[in-house]
Amino acid sequence: MLFCFWIGVQLNCLKEGNMPEKEPLVFKNARIMTPMRVIDNGVLIVSDGKVSNVGSEDKIKIPENAKVIDAAGKYLTPGFIDIHLHGGGGADTMDATEEAMEKISVAHAKGGATSIVPTTTSAPMDDIIKAVKVIELAKKRTLPGAQVLGAHIEGPYFSMEQRGAQNPEFLKEPKPEEYLKLLDEYDCILRVSAAPELEGALELGRELRRREIVASIAHTNATYQGILAAVEAGYTHVTHMYSGMSGLTRINAYRISGVIESTLLLDELTTEVIADGHHLPPSLMKLIIKVKSLDKVSVITDAISAAGLGPGKYSIGGLDAIVEDDVAEEFEIPEEEGNYVAKLLTRDAFAGSVATIDRCVRNMIKLVGLSIQDAVKMATINPAKVIGLDEKKGSLAEGKDADILILDEDVNVIMTIVGGRIVYRK
Ligand SMILES: [Zn+2]
Repeated sequence: MLFCFWIGVQLNCLKEGNMPEKEPLVFKNARIMTPMRVIDNGVLIVSDGKVSNVGSEDKIKIPENAKVIDAAGKYLTPGFIDIHLHGGGGADTMDATEEAMEKISVAHAKGGATSIVPTTTSAPMDDIIKAVKVIELAKKRTLPGAQVLGAHIEGPYFSMEQRGAQNPEFLKEPKPEEYLKLLDEYDCILRVSAAPELEGALELGRELRRREIVASIAHTNATYQGILAAVEAGYTHVTHMYSGMSGLTRINAYRISGVIESTLLLDELTTEVIADGHHLPPSLMKLIIKVKSLDKVSVITDAISAAGLGPGKYSIGGLDAIVEDDVAEEFEIPEEEGNYVAKLLTRDAFAGSVATIDRCVRNMIKLVGLSIQDAVKMATINPAKVIGLDEKKGSLAEGKDADILILDEDVNVIMTIVGGRIVYRK
């Protein structure tokens, strides 16, 4: 298909399709955020779906046969990587269909995600397997939007007390005869979230470490001692900080640190924040970054199927929910257009985030006070490191995958490029 696309002063015709461009694709007149540094008047060349050269205009020769996109002085950043999301565009990972994966891929590419890690939820193991099968297929295919990197298994090995929105009917202890089948059969599993205090969960952690799968502490009532054992067993990450985890408790005269204090304290652990502006108030996001340091925190959407659809009534995992905007000063929730969240009809609990990851990056700037460069790190190189793909993704450097965004100063997504293909433009 041929499209003509105009940005800045230059008119260029670009071929869109499932293959990377044959001719080199060149971005010029860009503020390139690598994100370790910003190169003004930058040029970036894409060949065969990879970044083949990046630097300042005076140092790089633009190939003659190249297709040139003038970024008109806007930011060129690595594509965002969302390592925890359940759905979007009306579809859920648990729908377990290829169409659902495509809808999720497209909805999140609009929000600047070039890579996604679709996440399952606590359900009968057969349903989880069906979803993983579809994720495995999607990983091998070229999707119309964001690329699927692999699966995140969130549940069913969770604490009943800290289940949050996980269905209690399906929660259980991890048994090797169950999870080994899953791990043996599907290569696409990148990450497993589990409560380390459950019987068998440390053994699971060791198995995941052997297979280089991220073991993530989640929906857990563990104490500090339990978290120390989890780290020794191979758990390296903590799922959605402050959601579904124990905090400080007291037994008689004695205080016991929970998962919150342990995560803040232990340098061995990275974590992630649902930065939709509702799930965590700015003060808590500031606290996490202040204590953990910027390098150890990623932003995630944890988005559900209604992400990217706007306000209205939806059925979410069989529950009736309402997506509406929400301004509440006492909860530090700012007035902002499109600031939606999903709630149960009783409005006493969230039904999930409906954000795309661009909103999370904007929130780190607007609500937490980070620079755009630091906020971009939290959605690019940081999550790439968590899942061990930072050799290929999360930064703009020679040899890396050409997953690229053009962003304006307010982090509105102007264009999304996945593996050298333009998949979205505003
Ligand atoms: Zn969760």
